[in-house]
Amino acid sequence: MMRTRFLALCATALFLCAQTRTVTDAEVQRVHKGALLIDTHNDVPWRVVDGFDIGSKTGEWHTDISRLKQGGVGAVFFVAYVGGEYVDGNRSAHRTLQVIDAIRKDIIGKYPTDFVLATRADEIEQARKNGKIAALIGIEGGHAIENDLGLLRQYYNLGARYLTLTHTNTNEWADSAGDITKAGVKHHGGLTEFGKQVVREMNRLGMMVDISHTADETFADALATSTAPIIASHSSCRALTNHPRNLTDAMITAIAKKGGVVQINFNCNFISEKFRAAQAVDDPKLEARFKQVTAGKKLSEVETDGTYQRLRLEMGLTRAQLSDVVDHIDHVRKIAGIDAVGIGSDFNGVTCTPVGLDDVSKYPNLTRALLERGYSEADIQKIYGGNLLRVMRAVEKAAGK
Ligand SMILES: [Zn+2]
Repeated sequence: MMRTRFLALCATALFLCAQTRTVTDAEVQRVHKGALLIDTHNDVPWRVVDGFDIGSKTGEWHTDISRLKQGGVGAVFFVAYVGGEYVDGNRSAHRTLQVIDAIRKDIIGKYPTDFVLATRADEIEQARKNGKIAALIGIEGGHAIENDLGLLRQYYNLGARYLTLTHTNTNEWADSAGDITKAGVKHHGGLTEFGKQVVREMNRLGMMVDISHTADETFADALATSTAPIIASHSSCRALTNHPRNLTDAMITAIAKKGGVVQINFNCNFISEKFRAAQAVDDPKLEARFKQVTAGKKLSEVETDGTYQRLRLEMGLTRAQLSDVVDHIDHVRKIAGIDAVGIGSDFNGVTCTPVGLDDVSKYPNLTRALLERGYSEADIQKIYGGNLLRVMRAVEKAAGK
């Protein structure tokens, strides 16, 4: 039956035969278990801060312990995300410490048989040997340091191993891609002199420089300033999906040339051009619905975007597909090589995930799709974690650690 269907496909669309092969469940399981899967961007901490228990089995949103295990996840960078709204009143550092505390106390501390804090590449591998999920900390939004290298050093001491130089807001030392065309925002043309000092201090400490969310000029300055490889912890390809937050081919190849890695984001808006374009269209019905559901509520920028997206989905917008994620991985491989690509899902940070990659339990579907697309076991091991481990080790080595 399957064979007949496969041959029928070949007759109608020859190119599919060259790109797909039949993969057994046993092969998917074997390859998936054999790879150390490191996801460099999971946003569940901002829910944990609000009281969500990662050990619960309610199936809420994208992440909990049982689904992480089901998905065969080896390591997660839990993100201390700091919204731009915390800049008002200088509350960014407080918020950062609050989220780091939630990661350390309410995720790792509360579930020590499931998680262990990892701060080095070796510790990720050791966690795997001990049957635990390695929990790492990344900070999202350079305003978290409140223009103080001392705070950056303290975050490192608390276990943070990357800093995303900006979120969607330009800060006092780095431009973001999120507000580059917004009137009234003071832009710097990339990194200021202090911004370059931040990058150099990260190099000295052994903290990965993350350029997801940054403006193209900030990316160029970070790349030129950093003496160690840099990462995009959760970004996809602009050549396939024309979002300013995605990376151009030139950026991807430059990251690869410096030994870094691009961790592909699963957000429908960053991986499907059809989805992105549909979202960009004004819709009076949507506006009316938005006013109805948000009446009287004060939402942050991220909550506003998420609400709009949820309403569009409810009103019939089609989600992205698992194959879209594979297309982005494939694009990086083609232009920059297999050593330059990894996984940075953005689970719990996005409203729309692709069909088939609904939450953290579904990674084996991605393994199947990659095998079907012709990726080898060794390729998948690199994409899932080998490349990121290589970058972490290079960053540690550059810092003399
Ligand atoms: Zn983000």
